[in-house]
Amino acid sequence: MTLRLYNTLTKKIEDLVPRDKDKINLFVCGPTVYDLSHLGHAKTYIQMDTMARLIRHNDYELFYLQNITDIDDKIIVRSHQKNINWQELRTNFQDEYIKDMTSLNNTSVTEYARATDYIDDITSQVRRLIDGGHAYTIENDGIYFEISTFPEYGKLSGRSEIKKDDAQTRIDESDNKRGWNDFCIWKFSKPSEPVWDAPFGAGRPGWHIEDTAISEHFFGPQYDIHGGAVDLIFPHHEAEITQMESISGLVPMVGYWVHTGFLTIDSEKMAKSANNFYTIREVIEKGYNPLAIRMFMLQSHYRSAINFSFENLDAAQNRLHNWRNIAALRHQTHDTLRNDDDKSTDDRSVSLYATSQAALEALNDDMNTPAALTIIDDAFSRLSNTRLDDIHQHALTELLLMIDTVLGLELMTTTPDISDSVKRSIIERQQSRERQDWNVSDNMRSVIEKSGITVRDTAHGPVWEYVI
Ligand SMILES: [Zn+2]
Repeated sequence: MTLRLYNTLTKKIEDLVPRDKDKINLFVCGPTVYDLSHLGHAKTYIQMDTMARLIRHNDYELFYLQNITDIDDKIIVRSHQKNINWQELRTNFQDEYIKDMTSLNNTSVTEYARATDYIDDITSQVRRLIDGGHAYTIENDGIYFEISTFPEYGKLSGRSEIKKDDAQTRIDESDNKRGWNDFCIWKFSKPSEPVWDAPFGAGRPGWHIEDTAISEHFFGPQYDIHGGAVDLIFPHHEAEITQMESISGLVPMVGYWVHTGFLTIDSEKMAKSANNFYTIREVIEKGYNPLAIRMFMLQSHYRSAINFSFENLDAAQNRLHNWRNIAALRHQTHDTLRNDDDKSTDDRSVSLYATSQAALEALNDDMNTPAALTIIDDAFSRLSNTRLDDIHQHALTELLLMIDTVLGLELMTTTPDISDSVKRSIIERQQSRERQDWNVSDNMRSVIEKSGITVRDTAHGPVWEYVI
């Protein structure tokens, strides 16, 4: 099987071919750490985490690098508002970000690189851009990249004009720029602002330059995949190409550009002003399982827009609940089941192995998670209300392993086996039912339910399920 991905640069779905044997270098734009992460971040980072898992599952040795923007206008403004220093603010919110990512099971990142830990790499890039005639100084302002020196500007996005909704930073604005779309790579700091020494004037880095400085530090001037949300294509990613290819003269900076689609809330753009803004933290605090958020994001293709509503999230949480109870079937033993008379072999284990293959094929086809989830659902629906013999339990375990490895849904770890004493209670309940001793059977049921599971009677005897 070959992994195929849609490449924003070529506008085609292409086979993923590493630059170097079986090694893949992936860079994804990380957060600006001035506040808690929201559901849009959850979407991007769950989908990129899943892509990283999928790449590794295809036997590539993946280095997944994410930058943390820890110096920026928003951080400076927020730290002044809160009356704390900017280092404390960014450290707090970096910690909160990692907490959120861990709860969503986004655990694939090899290295988080904080911009301010790479100031030497950043100033080196600025110096090389000045030396190469690509950047110029505006007195008392900063150093700007001169777009007219890079004729290929616009090759990723197909445009060169800034529009109203483009993600931009204030520091790119200046009346004295040579070209109206020139952008700032180094800002001379004002008195109360953070500042780093540099031969071309003390200041702080622009936004786009930190990404290329960090990716060059770890990967060199060219690497395999760059990912991020679709709203970063222009001007941010366009600027990255412009900077790095101007410095190195090597083309392309990145072979594959992958972008995740928008998240809307109740069909509207999420915005604090629209009162439809949700942080990851507050959704979890409403009682939602973080892995249900993960399931929700995987239900749509990473390139398409997702519309979030709490009804949709409820549905995803139910799906997760059902999947966990299917996962529990691998623990159902003969002891707790009365009937041994169903046929011991049928085609279910074969179809479970085929399910893993079919789901992986869907995932390798531009990471079609909704198709993979439907394939898994079909297989699971054939297993519900049934019990499995050893062969089927083994086949189910293999499928669950694949789901957990690639989709990160933790079906195995969140569905431990029940204790022997609970198993004995299930047997006792069943025996009391057979002799129609309803008092004992009711007692046993309440004992069982105290342990967080419930028993359902099927044609093949009792099956226990987790109460979630
Ligand atoms: Zn970035």
